[in-house]
Amino acid sequence: MLTDTHCHLYLPDFDADRDAMIQRAIEAGITRFVLPNIDLKSVDALTRLCRQYPNHCFPLIGLHPCSVDDSWQQQSSRIGDYLKHSPVQWYGIGETGLDYYWSRQWIAQQKQNLEQHIRWAKSYRLPLILHSRNAVDDCIEMVSLHRHPDLKGIFHCFSGSLQQAERIVEAGFLLGIGGVVTFPKGNLDQVLPHIPLDCIVLETDSPYLAPVPHRGKRNESSYLILIAQRVAELYRVTPEQVAERTTANACRLFGFPF
Ligand SMILES: [Zn+2]
Repeated sequence: MLTDTHCHLYLPDFDADRDAMIQRAIEAGITRFVLPNIDLKSVDALTRLCRQYPNHCFPLIGLHPCSVDDSWQQQSSRIGDYLKHSPVQWYGIGETGLDYYWSRQWIAQQKQNLEQHIRWAKSYRLPLILHSRNAVDDCIEMVSLHRHPDLKGIFHCFSGSLQQAERIVEAGFLLGIGGVVTFPKGNLDQVLPHIPLDCIVLETDSPYLAPVPHRGKRNESSYLILIAQRVAELYRVTPEQVAERTTANACRLFGFPF
């Protein structure tokens, strides 16, 4: 049994074959899918899918840094309404974070947005799911600044250095390991064996970032197996042990029964 801790299965990329794709994943042993929100436009599709698969799909609510612009305050206050009035049970806050790769125009607003999400994570006692692209040090700095026993979460799609990984663990967060672990130049072979297996969770980030040998094509949750296999090689344990340990980590964080 595996948990895909980060996937966007509600996006139009899956409109043609969503049910078959989810069935493929369940048959491959991936029984839980954690679905981070992106922005106001994605909430309906996200909650609809979670109502359709209440035992398999678990929603998060948040505003993605790439959707932050000069209207972020209006967007964020609507996200706050969804949190307060909760049309479904939310399992975490996200995804949010900092992205300096696509644009550096809204960095100040992205930081304010991230701070708001940190406050929500603390007050609702929900895990915080962070996206950081070309901004991992700033993200680590912000969560470290707000360090608190109730502030936990995941640095999703981690691809940084060992030193950054150690600081993330030190800040009370887990590393989300995805397709990058299968890339020849992904560098995670230099990081993972030195980080306790109890500090990582697995994810696909579907439909993005497909692992080898599907790199460059649409990603889907059944490919989580390929990620688990590569992680097992790096830790010199069996894929079953990786499945068990990382699923236990996800259950602890999101409050799923194990
Ligand atoms: Zn994502």
